[in-house]
Amino acid sequence: MTRLSAITPSGPTHVGNYLGAVRRWAREGGPDDLYFVSDLHGMTTPYHPQKLRSRTRELLATLIAAGIAPDTVFVQSDLLPQLGPLTWVLECSCAFGEAARMTQFKEKSADRTHEGTPVRVGLFTYPVLMAADILLQGADEVPVGDDQAQHVELARVLARRFNSTYGEAFVVPRAVTPPAGARIRDLTEPTRKMDKSARDAAGVLFVLDEPDLLRRKVKRAVTDSMGRLEYRPDDQPGLANLLEILAACHGKSPREVVAGYSSYGEVKDAVAEAVVEELAPLRERVRELLADPAELDRIRAVGGERAAERGAHRLSTVLRLAGV
Ligand code: ADP
Repeated sequence: MTRLSAITPSGPTHVGNYLGAVRRWAREGGPDDLYFVSDLHGMTTPYHPQKLRSRTRELLATLIAAGIAPDTVFVQSDLLPQLGPLTWVLECSCAFGEAARMTQFKEKSADRTHEGTPVRVGLFTYPVLMAADILLQGADEVPVGDDQAQHVELARVLARRFNSTYGEAFVVPRAVTPPAGARIRDLTEPTRKMDKSARDAAGVLFVLDEPDLLRRKVKRAVTDSMGRLEYRPDDQPGLANLLEILAACHGKSPREVVAGYSSYGEVKDAVAEAVVEELAPLRERVRELLADPAELDRIRAVGGERAAERGAHRLSTVLRLAGV
């Protein structure tokens, strides 16, 4: 049983990505699960090539430093020789109208992140590339949030269509809902989710932030003037967010942790220390890996070659069945 999960290097990794995804992958991942850094997906909106490359390495180092088995991790672009042809075959099995129904494209193409530049065809076709990511590896399950469920459904449709039109080549994947975890929100705008590509980094706790910077950011977190120490996400989103971060660090529920404090200041101090404790060792390991590029390349090749091996046989079957 293979589960496939990805994370896009569209910005530096933050504590929400870590607590909500990476730490769980490291703790719960099985030997047949796969994790990849989806750098090709990071090209669908304006980006800087050097930043994309360095963030890809940083993210790979973060996944390894977090304890995910290196042979289960790969970088998407290392599979480009296989993903390119497979994406083309799938594009030629996908109706224009099917791709045009993707609600994420409608939202993202109206988004401000395009910085005034034209919307890219790659943003339109990226769900087909995502189908290729999934189908190339023969993934059985793809844990995704609501925003991606429609894309996994497209992968299912394309897999079934290919299998019935040209011959059996693909495992039909299932979208699964990842275990509910807190959606960590921005510290300065606690009604928005913490986001890698937030324009203002003041409310985002990055994995590679220095401990003092983490402490300063937590100190400046927006709370409220009620002075009430309760876990009430609707009325007190800032405080609730801090409690959620603390709870995730301590493996408890927010209601359990709130009982131990008598002021917002105490909660903030506790959050700052918990985050520093959680992230500082991780940051050190990431730094060590980044300081040894040859070692990181070696690790990268281990997972990349394994994923390419998994894909090679399937791609040749697909091309043969497709008549090319
Ligand atoms: P981002 O939205 O920060 O660019 P991604 O969409 O690449 O992050 O998501 C990568 C993983 O991190 C996903 O599994 C997602 O559920 C998780 N994740 C992202 N943001 C948060 C958050 N604020 N709180 C908890 N988990 C998050």
